[in-house]
Amino acid sequence: MTVIAVLGSTNMDVVAYVARAPGRGETVTGRELRTVPGGKGANQAVAAARAGGEVVMIGAVGTDEYGSRLRTNLEHAGVDTDLLHTAAGPSGTAHIVVDDEGSNAIVVIPGANGTVTALGPGEKAAIAAAGLLLLQLELPMTVVTEGAMTAKARGVRTILTPSPVQPLPAGLADSVDLLIPNEHEAAELTGHTDPRAAALSLLRQVPEVVITLGSRGCLYAARGGEPVFFPAPEVTAVDTTGAGDTFVGTLAVALGEGRSVPEAVGWASSAAALCVQRPGASTSMPYRSEIDAS
Ligand code: AMP
Repeated sequence: MTVIAVLGSTNMDVVAYVARAPGRGETVTGRELRTVPGGKGANQAVAAARAGGEVVMIGAVGTDEYGSRLRTNLEHAGVDTDLLHTAAGPSGTAHIVVDDEGSNAIVVIPGANGTVTALGPGEKAAIAAAGLLLLQLELPMTVVTEGAMTAKARGVRTILTPSPVQPLPAGLADSVDLLIPNEHEAAELTGHTDPRAAALSLLRQVPEVVITLGSRGCLYAARGGEPVFFPAPEVTAVDTTGAGDTFVGTLAVALGEGRSVPEAVGWASSAAALCVQRPGASTSMPYRSEIDAS
């Protein structure tokens, strides 16, 4: 089976559920607080493992109580954590406000993720042995770039989620095979709010792009072809946290199994639609049997 390596963040999501998110300088009373294992890297790893992928996680957790919970959560999902280091200090945390419409706003504090600044021989070997590498931008840019370049040099397909959004250094963009921004990230990276124009602009940097469009679905574009729109299943969303990571993790599994991008996008859209119908991030990610049945 194709191994999926994830070089990315693990965070504890501290989630406040509110009717309406507070504005600047405003205080609102929330309904409930939950701590849920998250981090874009770990979420994509869990999504891929639940979808049937063989997944190796590269990153770090802290020595606080969150660290062991984050590691155990990955292990329960079946993710290999041998390369998930324990760094002195706090784990990464994400402070999330979810409103009654299922929309979210997030502050991330990197903690242990910030200690992952370079790859050792073990990490490089794991990337070289993988079929796909999943990257996001919640680890330092130096190590994300090193990971992408390592993968590129070994012919390993690299998928980047440019979140939190920031300009992509040339060394990184040149090593990415498939870029998966959401529509806000795509607009930020290109200056185009129209997804089609954004996709065409991003193709100057990377060979393939999927722009996710929330409840509207996604747009796929590859160099030399016309962008193709894929609608999302119509469902009632209760919490969209983790939808993008579910989409990417499951897409990676399908691509690793040799499915075409349109086929993989359809399957990933089904998985993400299941995720948004349940609260939480990694807890709401579907298992393969559920995706196949939907
Ligand atoms: P986003 O990061 O919000 O663009 O969402 C990522 C993917 O999750 C989308 O491309 C959809 O496949 C799926 N998704 C997000 N929100 C919804 C929704 N309300 N209904 C169905 N699918 C959704």
